[in-house]
Amino acid sequence: MSAIRLVILGRQGSGKGTQSLRISEAYGCIHVSTGDMLRAAVADGTKLGRQASAVMEAGGLVGDEIINGIVAERLAKPDIADHGVLLDGFPRTADQADALERILGELGQSITMAINLDVPVEEVTERMMARGRSDDTEEAIRRRLRLYEEQTAPLLQWFEAHGLLETVDGLGTEAEVFDRLVSVIDARTG
Ligand code: AMP
Repeated sequence: MSAIRLVILGRQGSGKGTQSLRISEAYGCIHVSTGDMLRAAVADGTKLGRQASAVMEAGGLVGDEIINGIVAERLAKPDIADHGVLLDGFPRTADQADALERILGELGQSITMAINLDVPVEEVTERMMARGRSDDTEEAIRRRLRLYEEQTAPLLQWFEAHGLLETVDGLGTEAEVFDRLVSVIDARTG
């Protein structure tokens, strides 16, 4: 089987992080999280980190030129061609999806599929409230979720229009959700 190149989408609190780790382990593909890469750059105080930190703190999006550049550089490494990739946090916009298609195209690769891990807004709000973090007031949570909705709706349309979108019900136990993910991935790649 050739290497898979997956994109995972899901609201904050959808379990996307946990399931991403399980998928990358099960399929041997490389988990690439742009949020993790940016946080590492901020922690290391690199030029990129300095450019990104204010935008990240304000909850905005880092500019396409910067983020596309980071992703292009990471995807060009040989481990991705060998093992495949699970992209988490990228693309965030339809423009970034266009960029991803171009980046992979130049490497002779293509997107296998995008999975939307779907957990209703009410449920993720409750989950985040239950974490009890100080930045998780109900209002702040609702604002972040609204922003996600606005940004992601066109992205879902992009993947749908390209015949690449699968939606997976994210309600249930971790194991139940993982089984559903495996089913849709295997159905595409099997
Ligand atoms: P995340 O951990 O995916 O929520 O990312 C944390 C922060 O990093 C986001 O709030 C953005 O400021 C920034 N970021 C991560 N991925 C992207 C992306 N694809 N495009 C723009 N900004 C991003």
